[in-house]
Amino acid sequence: MEENIKVGVSSCLLGNRVRYDGGHKRDRYITDVLANYFLFIPVCPEVECGLPVPRETMHLEGDPENPRLVTTRNKVDHTARMQEFCTKKAQELENEKLSAFIFKKDSPSSGLHRVKVFGNSGQAQKKGRGLFAAAVVDKYPLLPVEEEGRLHDASLRENFIERVYCYHRWQSFLENEPDYKKLIQFHTRHKLQLMAHSPKHLSKIGKLVAAGKTLPRKQMLEQYQDLLMEALTLKATVKKNVNVLHHIMGHFKTYLSGDEKAELLEIIDSYARSYVPLVVPLTLIGHYVRKYQVSYLQDQAYLEPHPAELMLRNHV
Ligand code: SF4
Repeated sequence: MEENIKVGVSSCLLGNRVRYDGGHKRDRYITDVLANYFLFIPVCPEVECGLPVPRETMHLEGDPENPRLVTTRNKVDHTARMQEFCTKKAQELENEKLSAFIFKKDSPSSGLHRVKVFGNSGQAQKKGRGLFAAAVVDKYPLLPVEEEGRLHDASLRENFIERVYCYHRWQSFLENEPDYKKLIQFHTRHKLQLMAHSPKHLSKIGKLVAAGKTLPRKQMLEQYQDLLMEALTLKATVKKNVNVLHHIMGHFKTYLSGDEKAELLEIIDSYARSYVPLVVPLTLIGHYVRKYQVSYLQDQAYLEPHPAELMLRNHV
């Protein structure tokens, strides 16, 4: 598995006392589990833009597309100060080569989804995005991003961490001056993973790669990464996974005995009916891949998209 995966994180989620009230919002899954796999780069936009701890609470006001950051009681407008910080910090983060960012939900600075934006009437719409989260997403549109609250949902968590590892592999791939041959190798390794998320994207990417040297290298890589990361944001449903499992079986069915085939089909069927999680058929498949040395499958990212110890496929 890859090492040195750097992930940006809202500082209060690590237990740092940077919140408006001098407290923190330590998230145990982040500090006790993910910290064993990722190197966290903490950012507290409110403190780093020069605001004190403790400080007056703030919220977003005005147009949800272009909101202002204003203190709730004294109505001090911190928008310009925060925007200046966001532009500078988003640029600085380029040096960190982040593979993802985990944001604190609901925050007017750090929240990623459905942050409250107050209108003139005092009514709030849950349509906003924290100013710093917006700056990061604008500057790094391919970067996997998520909120800590959503990481408590098993399927969102599995999807996010799968994207982090895949994006990190892509970043490492780019660092090694990839030529067309290396792109084909990368693509071959990710075919089943793409199929599990979006057969349509797999087909589009297949056509792109087949166009080969007719496209300039830079353009080819840019189009490839856009499609790759877009595909992975789509949910790998049970139906799509079952399709991939049957496809995998096609690669070694000539090796399997009648009993082995029947057992594997039965287990895939149990997964299709949600009697067992995805890890069950994949464990048996992994056993056969090793037993029969099926080289095409041995290298597939789909079979090992993230560390098994995270147990992400035990719950999807
Ligand atoms: S939510 Fe963001 S701005 Fe607020 S304390 Fe946490 S890191 Fe700082």
